[in-house]
Amino acid sequence: MYNSVIIGAGYAGLILAERLATQRNQKVLIIEQRQHIGGNAYDHFTDEGILIHEYGPHIFHTRSKEVWDYLSQFTEWYHYEHHVKAMIDGKEVPLPFNLNSMDELFPKSLAERLQQKLVDFLGFNVKIPILKLREQDDEDLKFLADYVYEKVFLHYTLKQWGIGPEELDPTVTGRVPVYISRDDRYFQDRYQGLPLRGYTEMFKNMINHANISLMLNTHYKDVMTIESGKIELFGHPFTGDVIYTGKIDELFHYQYGELPYRSLRFEYDTFDQEYVQSVGQLNTPNSYDFTRKTEFKHLTGQKHPKTIIAREYPQEYVNGGNIPYYPIISYGNQEKYKQYKKLAEQLKNVHLVGRLAEYRYYDMDAVVAAALKLYKKLSK
Ligand code: FAD
Ligand code: UDP
Repeated sequence: MYNSVIIGAGYAGLILAERLATQRNQKVLIIEQRQHIGGNAYDHFTDEGILIHEYGPHIFHTRSKEVWDYLSQFTEWYHYEHHVKAMIDGKEVPLPFNLNSMDELFPKSLAERLQQKLVDFLGFNVKIPILKLREQDDEDLKFLADYVYEKVFLHYTLKQWGIGPEELDPTVTGRVPVYISRDDRYFQDRYQGLPLRGYTEMFKNMINHANISLMLNTHYKDVMTIESGKIELFGHPFTGDVIYTGKIDELFHYQYGELPYRSLRFEYDTFDQEYVQSVGQLNTPNSYDFTRKTEFKHLTGQKHPKTIIAREYPQEYVNGGNIPYYPIISYGNQEKYKQYKKLAEQLKNVHLVGRLAEYRYYDMDAVVAAALKLYKKLSK
């Protein structure tokens, strides 16, 4: 009686459910192992009534009008632009590291010389990944690159990933390039904001449709079998489409071994005052075991006499024990993923999409785009 089954109620799964139910009039079943929808973008109100992000700070930003317009059908926006500071040498300086950060950290004459060099060699309003900046021959730029590498990237990355910047794909540290600019915003995308009433409300609006059924607290294996040539739902053959947004290695019983992930643990502090941080996110690359502190009220714009801060402690991922937050993007891991991808391509009617299923370090907007692309492919 269902036309499609969707495994996972994160962005990827919910978008496919919404599209198939509303545009193709399909009967859709969503199976989700957690007790809520939204995946890692889930947010909720605490007992004090403060809106927090359960699985870490989520700031929406995109250059894609298509992605923005799609989500805007289900939410209004709080127009927030993310500001981050990093604690370096006892000072809170803007991140991405930029010309203003240099003013805060270096004596005036040194700052001016380095700024001039950056502009002369690389240009103004230019973003350069730290690993690229380290390749410069100029002595001043070498000094600057080593400084930023040591103070911003090395120890944060060791904490976050358990390995150094060179062992990761350069795109990972390249997400936060040195920015030769005076623009202190973390993202420069045209469209930025948070859903006005929260992500979870936006997701509820997406799947509020008679064609969509939702099973929470259910691992797909409790009700489905997915093997090559044999797909069953509730013990009966199922011939419709299956959208799978869980881990790709799990789908194939880890036959090539586990794809590595990094996990996190959060600790929360409530303060009896309106705000405690100057900005939404404070990174601590060189001190403490946590990487960053987020004060959610800056992100959500919520007015409340109290405030909550989350500290983020990276930790090993233990299969079955904690949450696979981040795929570890490196050469060897991508090779293993490709082996699984080959298996996935042989599974008829099963379509993989999302951060876990594609083993990609997707931001939210990229997942929305990937889900919409899959929907278009299915509609052909
Ligand atoms: P998920 O959100 O992981 O959803 C997958 C769902 O499938 C989960 O609900 C899971 O429980 C379910 N599932 C998995 N396996 C099974 C199974 N076997 N059976 C049943 N259900 C299953 N992006 C941004 O753009 N901006 C940010 O600021 C940002 N911050 C982030 C901060 C952190 C700490 C993290 C971890 C991610 C952040 N992201 C951010 C990325 C964002 O979370 C993802 O892009 C997005 O949530 C991915 O959606 P998804 O549907 O692919 O996966
Ligand atoms: N990074 C760092 N120091 C910082 C911020 C980021 O070394 O202060 C590196 C680190 O390796 C991190 C990556 O850049 O994992 C990407 O950072 P981003 O803020 O995009 O991480 P996310 O929000 O996805 O956790």
